[in-house]
Amino acid sequence: MEKKRVLIFGVNGFIGQHLLKHILGKTNWLVIGNDLANNSIRLFLRNPRFEFHRGNIRNEKLIKKLVSKCDVVVPLAGIATPKVYITDPLRVYEIDFEANLFIVRLCAKLKKRIIWPSTSEVYGMSTDTEFHPETSNLVMGPIVKMRWIYAASKQLMDRIIFAYGRDKGLDFTIFRPFNWIGYGQDNIHDTNGNPRVITQFLGNILRGENMRLVDGGSNRRSFTHIDDGIGALIKIIENRKNISSGKIYNIGNPKNNHSIRNLAESILKMAPKYKFFRDRAKNVSIVGITSKKHYGEGYEDILNRTPYIKNTMKDLGWKPKISLAEGLKLTFAGYVEQIQKEKRVS
Ligand code: UDP
Repeated sequence: MEKKRVLIFGVNGFIGQHLLKHILGKTNWLVIGNDLANNSIRLFLRNPRFEFHRGNIRNEKLIKKLVSKCDVVVPLAGIATPKVYITDPLRVYEIDFEANLFIVRLCAKLKKRIIWPSTSEVYGMSTDTEFHPETSNLVMGPIVKMRWIYAASKQLMDRIIFAYGRDKGLDFTIFRPFNWIGYGQDNIHDTNGNPRVITQFLGNILRGENMRLVDGGSNRRSFTHIDDGIGALIKIIENRKNISSGKIYNIGNPKNNHSIRNLAESILKMAPKYKFFRDRAKNVSIVGITSKKHYGEGYEDILNRTPYIKNTMKDLGWKPKISLAEGLKLTFAGYVEQIQKEKRVS
């Protein structure tokens, strides 16, 4: 395998930490990582193939230094939690768009390959049964529905990257994660309603709170375990015969399409099997809540979200394998291990 130098911004985040672990464990590549913190990747800080640089994504001097040192850039630093799109939309724009635009331009200038995390959210409220990267329309609500600031920021960046590819020779791949799930996605102890749905539900059970279905829980998502997502990302970084250059890929598992109600019921049913979750689970009920109360004014939801992945599978020789039940087991197990460690320390 060709020895690559991979630069990961946001290496301490959900996708970053799993990508780092996989690269160090299964390839011979070198990783340069940047983040504000390194609490999730402590195990790897002494690995000779990993170099960590603490720092802000807006520190242009640092960014330039790091980009110059690598072959491939994976800029994962960003905010991807719907609650924050409503509570702090400007920060979402500033980080997800402005700070990352500097990185995109630098990659174009220094001729570095960029692997850009777009989002399933760019398809918005498309009514297509499967969202297709080349034929689906991208449907967003009005400006007063603040939720769309994330999708709009990502969509514009996708367009800019695509244009840099056509007109300035930027080597890129755009990938769109569809509800990636797994251990480490959000802080399970967060009580402000920020975590995405699975961490939110697990945190609810842990604290003995009711699980809340926003607007009835009939919306559907295609849940994709992080290990399947990382499998595809590795193939994109590898980029055999330049197959992924200039392409847009959905990375998701269409077979794991479930309603949020169904998800909540599955999680609550599994909880008694797991230490720390078991004790409180019997007091937990699944209840309803309005989106206005849960997220505040300006929320609007996507009713169904299923990826078209035939092109991803064909180009990458990849297939998602982990069922929702299996993915939930792995996630529960990850948090049991974390809580066990926390208890030992305290
Ligand atoms: N949701 C819910 N209860 C919660 C948190 C989220 O019913 O406590 C719903 C949310 O309204 C959405 C779905 O779960 O329909 C998925 O939310 P998530 O935050 O994971 O991200 P999204 O898929 O919307 O980007």
